[in-house]
Amino acid sequence: TKTNPVNKNQSKPVVISTWIHGMEANKTAWERLKVGDNALNAVEAGVRVTESDPKNRSVGIGGNPDAAGEVTLDACIMNHKSECGAVAYLKNIENPISVARKVMEETPHVLLVGQGALSFAIEQGFEKKDLLTEEAKADWIKWKESENQKKPEINHENHDTISMLAIDKEGNLSGACTTSGWAYKLPGRVGDSPIIGSGLFVDNEVGAACATGIGEAVIRISGSSTIVELMRQGKSPQEACKEAVNRILKKHKDHEGLQVGFLAINKKGEVGAYSSYYGFNYAY
Ligand code: ASP
Repeated sequence: TKTNPVNKNQSKPVVISTWIHGMEANKTAWERLKVGDNALNAVEAGVRVTESDPKNRSVGIGGNPDAAGEVTLDACIMNHKSECGAVAYLKNIENPISVARKVMEETPHVLLVGQGALSFAIEQGFEKKDLLTEEAKADWIKWKESENQKKPEINHENHDTISMLAIDKEGNLSGACTTSGWAYKLPGRVGDSPIIGSGLFVDNEVGAACATGIGEAVIRISGSSTIVELMRQGKSPQEACKEAVNRILKKHKDHEGLQVGFLAINKKGEVGAYSSYYGFNYAY
């Protein structure tokens, strides 16, 4: 295209996503990318796989509930034209990423929350579902009866968003981010994942970045947009992710349980990742 001249050295298409659950999600995204579909369709289709997996306890159906036992979902999506859409505190909808895309495409807004987001989803033809699985409910009951309830712990193992970034054959970038958030969070809590600039950011001139981990920490440095700006200034995706993590660590006295992880991709299709804890992985 005019704005994105094809550079023979670029590695494209590419898709990356957070955590091991990204393997299955990437497969679906790749089916789209390899036949020349655009990055937006790829990332939406990709993360829907994780949202619809009831065994996945941190995204979509089967996600861990809030402290009141309700599954509330956050998601956002952004394309190469800097168009974006998001939903937060959305209940009873299995695929919030697709509702976020509808917000982007069918409304003049960026973010719909709570009952308004649910009414909009139903108007758009999404089906209402019970998202709390028996397994998630049993664990929540155990948590309610445990000591943890009195002092909710930050646990880097109990929340794992799927965030996905892709560059398509045309060299255009898109990203998606979707989560059930922090397990047993206070009802009404929204993290970084539906916040454009925090959980996800795409600037087609430069690159894209996305986050997983403790949303409160990611928001404090506007994580994903910060990484994109660092890449604009010349940092590699890897260096940019590392600097963002270090900024977060600098702003927190207590690093115990402070899990944050970022992924980034630039216009060449180079990728990077960095996290505050060992054991962070991503799918390429
Ligand atoms: N970032 C998500 C949130 O804070 C959770 C996660 O990635 O595990 O809601």
